[in-house]
Amino acid sequence: MFGWKHWKRGQDGEAVEHDIESRARQRAARRDAAVRAAVGQGLLGPDAAVVGLLDVTGIRAAAAALRAAFDEVTAPGTPVLHAFAVKATPLVPVLRLLHEAGIGAEVASPGELALARAAGVPAARTVLDSPAKTPAELREALALGVAVNADNPQELDRLDALMRSAPSRSPVGIRVNPQVGGGTIGATSTATPTSKFGVALRDEGAREWVVEACLKRPWLTRLHAHTGSQGIPLPLMVRGVAQTYALAEEVNARAGRRQIDTLDIGGGLPVNFASEETAPTYAGFARLLAEEVPGLFDGRYGLVTEFGRSLLAEQGTVVARVEYTKSAGGRRIAVTHAGVQVATRTVYAPQAWPLRIAAYDAEGRPKTGPEVVQDVAGPACFAGDLLAEGRAAPLLEQGDYAAALDTGAYYFAHHYAYNSLARPGVYGFAPDGSGGMAFATVREPQTIAEVVAESGGAHASALTTLLATGTH
Ligand SMILES: *Cc1c(COP(=O)(O)O)cnc(C)c1O
Repeated sequence: MFGWKHWKRGQDGEAVEHDIESRARQRAARRDAAVRAAVGQGLLGPDAAVVGLLDVTGIRAAAAALRAAFDEVTAPGTPVLHAFAVKATPLVPVLRLLHEAGIGAEVASPGELALARAAGVPAARTVLDSPAKTPAELREALALGVAVNADNPQELDRLDALMRSAPSRSPVGIRVNPQVGGGTIGATSTATPTSKFGVALRDEGAREWVVEACLKRPWLTRLHAHTGSQGIPLPLMVRGVAQTYALAEEVNARAGRRQIDTLDIGGGLPVNFASEETAPTYAGFARLLAEEVPGLFDGRYGLVTEFGRSLLAEQGTVVARVEYTKSAGGRRIAVTHAGVQVATRTVYAPQAWPLRIAAYDAEGRPKTGPEVVQDVAGPACFAGDLLAEGRAAPLLEQGDYAAALDTGAYYFAHHYAYNSLARPGVYGFAPDGSGGMAFATVREPQTIAEVVAESGGAHASALTTLLATGTH
């Protein structure tokens, strides 16, 4: 029903489309300049064969676009917290940059909460959503004043006890699963009938249970729904939000007051991995929501959003040196240093998570020349370790670089330690004001000594000595 074109067309039609295209061109130009400069400055080379690069300008622009999109459709004075889903890019300097750009943090584990705190994100701008919170985690969140969304009735029981034992500033909500259905990727579809998340609203008696749970607890002031991530069609996301809004209206009507004062509409805006163009846009999504669920924006409800992938994916590039090239059975193969360890989803589920590959020469300049069908392989020891299979691109040669684009979320920040491959360094880049690129270290590359230490290096004889004493 809705094509991408629809989402690009703003009130001023053509102008919006042109703007998106020119921003995409600028992002590609910054990326090319960054790869060239990374090679020139030795961040990438024979001794640093794979790196992650983050476009600081792009991150700022994405944060600004998100804020502007909701500013445009919300009544003046409406409290709106955009909480970045930390799991998408769990890197402290990224969280600090986003915080400075007016974006809070959505966390789902003690580690993610610690990252947000290390970045300086205040508790009042942090939301805790995990499906398996322990009593200790809940206690910490309530003590800090972090917003908590309860996943299920048992968690609500725990919160009852904690709220009785100590007052808390934390806003507390219930996560609901509107069960509106899944998208094209099962693993990221959260609103299926049998999803593990939230209270399944369409199950018998569940809706009434939520209403009564709220009426019994004056401190329950929020409803939360996250309808899914990559692969969810926008109309489905909108339906999930609409049903959560309708439930809030029902609770408030039954309570005879505005008990539910904030709706957390989750994240999940899909990312276009097929081309440079940002589609759909935050502006398009916000306008669609405002059309379909106008009551959400009239100032009666505060809003929380939890976008992850759509904020960071386009801002990241993993670049890897081509160590060898070969051919097998008539297929050209470039063996690079980026594979399953930095692109786990793509390697294990290539149909669901295809990535664009850009080819650069040994100096980091974009390669031109006729396209050749080739495999771009990773360094891991299994046959399926391919970044791209049968892909047409300028022929990659030994010493060139292959870049996997749009990998700023859920890719190089999510190292997978297969073959004990070291975590690559991550660097942020920004134009230096005099025609070049400046870099800042976001995450040091992991050393081989760290690989050993993190693999039990300090306990080398733990098992042999256990056996020696255990047999006597
Ligand atoms: C993963 C997740 C998000 C972010 O999803 P994206 O697809 O990265 O935008 C938001 N909220 C919750 C509860 C999540 O689990």
